[in-house]
Amino acid sequence: MNEQIDWKHLPFGYYPTDYNVRCTFKDGKWGEIEVTSSDKIELHMAATCLHYGQELFEGLKAFRGSDGKVRIFRMKDNAERVRSSARGILMEPIPEDLFCRMCEMVVKLNERFIPPYGSGASLYIRPLEIGLSPSIGVKAAKEYMFIVMVTPVGPYFKTGFGCTDICIMRDYDRVAPRGTGRFKIGGNYAASLVASEHAHEMGFSAVLFLDPKEKKYLDECGPANFFAIIDGKYVTPKSDSILPSITNRALMTLARDMGIEVEERHIAVEELERASEAGACGTAAVISPVGKVKDIDTGKEYVIARDGKPGPICTKLYNALSDIRLGDAPDNHDWNTILDI
Ligand SMILES: *Cc1c(COP(=O)(O)O)cnc(C)c1O
Repeated sequence: MNEQIDWKHLPFGYYPTDYNVRCTFKDGKWGEIEVTSSDKIELHMAATCLHYGQELFEGLKAFRGSDGKVRIFRMKDNAERVRSSARGILMEPIPEDLFCRMCEMVVKLNERFIPPYGSGASLYIRPLEIGLSPSIGVKAAKEYMFIVMVTPVGPYFKTGFGCTDICIMRDYDRVAPRGTGRFKIGGNYAASLVASEHAHEMGFSAVLFLDPKEKKYLDECGPANFFAIIDGKYVTPKSDSILPSITNRALMTLARDMGIEVEERHIAVEELERASEAGACGTAAVISPVGKVKDIDTGKEYVIARDGKPGPICTKLYNALSDIRLGDAPDNHDWNTILDI
């Protein structure tokens, strides 16, 4: 059946697979992992996830290497972050071990959907948790469901690793200064949709949000973290309102390995003038290099990639991280979980 999947042209969408796994928290404890072929959930119409936004998710990937082995990249870091997100919106944190078992299990069950090495595609793992208990009064649920689904996704760059333009708009905030920006929750995404749509209409791939308090510093780049190469250093925003990207953390480590200095600090908008390269980073694309940043309010345009092409440091970092995920380079930092399939 695999022959029918056009791996190279898969969209970043939902492609049905054979199974998903679920686990319910009830009466103060997590139950057994259930395997199901149904892609539907039966919910109480007053469930807290539907009314009060008790929903969180994660995103990670499994890859088939040239050695035939299947690797999941930095799963333990996702396990840690999912617990932080749960605490952030008063949901039940899933134990790390249960999270990892569910991820491994669902990948194994859907082995035939793991794209072959060389296709550029991967198996995207999407864990999510929802509050189940019915409530009309505003309060946290007592019962939760944790689901892990997978779907094969195509290469992010269909026409090769290339630059896109992004924009700064001060009329929108994704999150509040002491709000939920550092948690991976659906609510943050709902709050960013209008801004993203507006940016897309103007021909930009994403909004580079500014810090929501002072509107002076660079913050989150749509659904990804932002970094720039300034004076030869890898500089990325230090902010309480961005999601701690695991990809960004990996890139910082790899940059240090390459002898590049790393700074996590406030980055004022005007510093973009000195950036020789910039990128948005996350699991989906690893790095999406930035061509230009247009400041819509001032009309100023920061041209980052002068020749319109990704710069040498972005390219080197992108290749280094991609090679580790595929098993083509040594996993010196112990980031991969190799599955016994
Ligand atoms: C998931 C996500 C990222 C990227 O995180 P990774 O762990 O690198 O995939 C960045 N920003 C936001 C808002 C996200 O939801």
